[in-house]
Amino acid sequence: MTELFLTERLKQLLPLYKNFLEKEVYPIELGIITKPFKQSLSIVKDLRQKAKEQKLFAPHLSPEEGGIGLNLMEFAQVSEVLGTSPLGHLIFNCNAPDIGNMELMHQFASADLKKKYLHPLMNGDIRSCFAMTEPEFAGSNPVNMATTAIREGDLYVINGHKWFTTAADGANFTIVMAVTDTTNPNPYLRASMILVPLDNPGFKLERNIPIMGEAGEDYFSHAEVRFTNCKVPVTNRIGEEGQGFALAQVRLGPGRIHHCMRWIGICERAFDLMCSRAATRKLSDNRYLGQQQIIQAWIAECRANINAARLMVLHTAYSMEKNGAKAAKEEISTIKFFVANVLMKTLDKAIQVHGALGITDDTLLSFWYRHERGARIYDGPDEVHKVSLAKSILKGYGMGISD
Ligand SMILES: Cc1cc2nc3c(=O)[nH]c(=O)nc-3n(C[C@H](O)[C@H](O)[C@H](O)COP(=O)(O)OP(=O)(O)OC[C@H]3O[C@@H](n4cnc5c(N)ncnc54)[C@H](O)[C@@H]3O)c2cc1C
Repeated sequence: MTELFLTERLKQLLPLYKNFLEKEVYPIELGIITKPFKQSLSIVKDLRQKAKEQKLFAPHLSPEEGGIGLNLMEFAQVSEVLGTSPLGHLIFNCNAPDIGNMELMHQFASADLKKKYLHPLMNGDIRSCFAMTEPEFAGSNPVNMATTAIREGDLYVINGHKWFTTAADGANFTIVMAVTDTTNPNPYLRASMILVPLDNPGFKLERNIPIMGEAGEDYFSHAEVRFTNCKVPVTNRIGEEGQGFALAQVRLGPGRIHHCMRWIGICERAFDLMCSRAATRKLSDNRYLGQQQIIQAWIAECRANINAARLMVLHTAYSMEKNGAKAAKEEISTIKFFVANVLMKTLDKAIQVHGALGITDDTLLSFWYRHERGARIYDGPDEVHKVSLAKSILKGYGMGISD
């Protein structure tokens, strides 16, 4: 943690979050993530209630909405602390994809949708998901999609196939991206975002997709879903017709800060596990693993990488707050691929230091190794961000590169 970006209220709050996690969550998290998650929903519910009682719930929401009203920079630092447990963000109701949907609906949903869906979501009574990516098309270029929402009177009739709809299992509603104007010459103006309650008979969750041997369930799952003549009122649209991609950008900006800081939290926990193991694992009577220079080099490199990553992300959050997401575009791309790779390297080294234990489910490391490999793919794969960053830099040298 760096003092550079601490505010007065964060000085009060961060120890409270740390204490909550150490006391209530660390002792039970491994037991929860190693069994079917639905068995533990009541525990999560109780912990959410405790978080509310301690006035730590939903730190990103305003006090009127039941939160604390942290700004992006402050929330980023809380997000790091919460990231140290796989359950952290969920317990405090600032987990993806709900937090992105909250931000989106807060700005663009009608009063009616807010009342019916956003308010219970903010209160932690329901969960949500976001369905944009389709298995048949490259998600890196999301303008290519086959899902349509055709208007019939006061209804949209949605047909399409999506996958990697994170946490659809157990969610109350999804926000789906669908083409509402098939003939618009500008592909960026063809799609809209529409809210679909998941008890709609036209919606089907086909399966939770197995990821590296684990399909998971509920919050810890990614679903393949289908919309078949799925009818919802036109008033379920979020924002204007054709604004889907513009809204997706709004959703992604702060989302990348949230993810990056969560990853740094994971890095810190993995680093702690790695150092504890190096300091206590005996290679022989008088020799510990941590006495090996190669392990010392890994520890030093991981420390430097995590510190660098944190400063980069917090500076990006600062730039976004000061000048807006558009002005911070280069920085956002930079942190997205840089921090995802720091995360992978740190987890890999922590596993290696643990030897065979590292790949068992007896520590958190294997869970994160499995679940977080996707960090280099979602919200823009590494390569897309690198290309975008390099193009933007080269533009400053008078070089225009078209696709
Ligand atoms: C854990 C996880 C959670 C997700 N959650 C959601 C969700 O909740 N909702 C949702 O809608 N989607 C979700 N996604 C989907 C995600 O948005 C897509 O996987 C992502 O956009 C990439 O699309 P794709 O998988 O089709 O890969 P593709 O677009 O097929 O790309 C494959 C690879 O090609 C390379 N590549 C692509 N474009 C370029 C380029 N321009 N230059 C150079 N190389 C390139 C990259 O290496 C990339 O990894 C999730 C994905 C993961 C892994």
